[in-house]
Amino acid sequence: MKDGALRTFDTVARLRAVLDYERAGGRRVGVVPTMGYLHEGHGSLIEAAAAADDVVVTTIFVNPLQFAAGEDLAAYPRDLPRDSALAKRCGADVLFTPPVLEMYPEPVQTTVSVDGPVTERMEGASRPTHFAGVATVVAKLFSIAGPCRAYFGEKDWQQVTMVRRMARDLSMPVEVVGCPTIREHDGLALSSRNVYLTPAERAAAPVLYRALRAGAQAVRAGEGPASVVAGGMRCQIEAEPLAQLDYAEVADAVTLAPVDELRGELRLLVAARFGRARLIDNIGVTAPV
Ligand code: AMP
Repeated sequence: MKDGALRTFDTVARLRAVLDYERAGGRRVGVVPTMGYLHEGHGSLIEAAAAADDVVVTTIFVNPLQFAAGEDLAAYPRDLPRDSALAKRCGADVLFTPPVLEMYPEPVQTTVSVDGPVTERMEGASRPTHFAGVATVVAKLFSIAGPCRAYFGEKDWQQVTMVRRMARDLSMPVEVVGCPTIREHDGLALSSRNVYLTPAERAAAPVLYRALRAGAQAVRAGEGPASVVAGGMRCQIEAEPLAQLDYAEVADAVTLAPVDELRGELRLLVAARFGRARLIDNIGVTAPV
């Protein structure tokens, strides 16, 4: 399908039929689920898929199930013409843009939820219905797409970890691929929600990455226990007047369980609000043996 054309489908039946046809011809399918308003972070996932798979599908769906009342569902930024151009430039072959009623023609009675610290802590604690909404829509997308590789950003570390676990637990024919976080020159992770930032908030927001880097440095220097490292990150973010800290944590990189001693593969994770924008970020670090 590598003829440079971008085909856009908005029905489940059409996408399923096209991907079944491609697989029957021996071509491998790569899927990049997104909520649109694409930036180079999304672009890097599409490029990774284009490098490994024969047919690359980018899905654009602002999933109501993963937003709680009072969150930014209605305000979530959208720009389909720009998204199409970016997806095409990065190597997508298919854009899947289902309307809400195509994905959820009836009120949903079946949801998927993944238990454990991976969904219960941090984002799961701050947004109690969020991960079940994500797991449900991703399970649906996997069911629609069929056997494939699916690409997720490490920027949403809990999300990619949860999706990997869901695919394993439910024997889904999907290989979940995690891709590194793409950042602005000053370290701010690219996010569709950065558009909400005022210039002053934008200037303040890189404090998240600075705190993470300082935390990782403290881990490498053995300046434990974990509570001290987390406390250091918290202080640094709280010292920024435009940031309202939500959490700063040190967790096991795979289980997301809290840790005490600095041992093994760790993940440092932070979230804070800057005005209208709630931003998250994380970084991986290996504790010295
Ligand atoms: P979203 O549209 O925010 O739901 O994100 C769709 C996918 O893009 C998710 O797998 C995200 O983790 C990934 N993503 C978002 N921002 C970035 C980034 N800055 N770098 C890498 N991947 C990202």
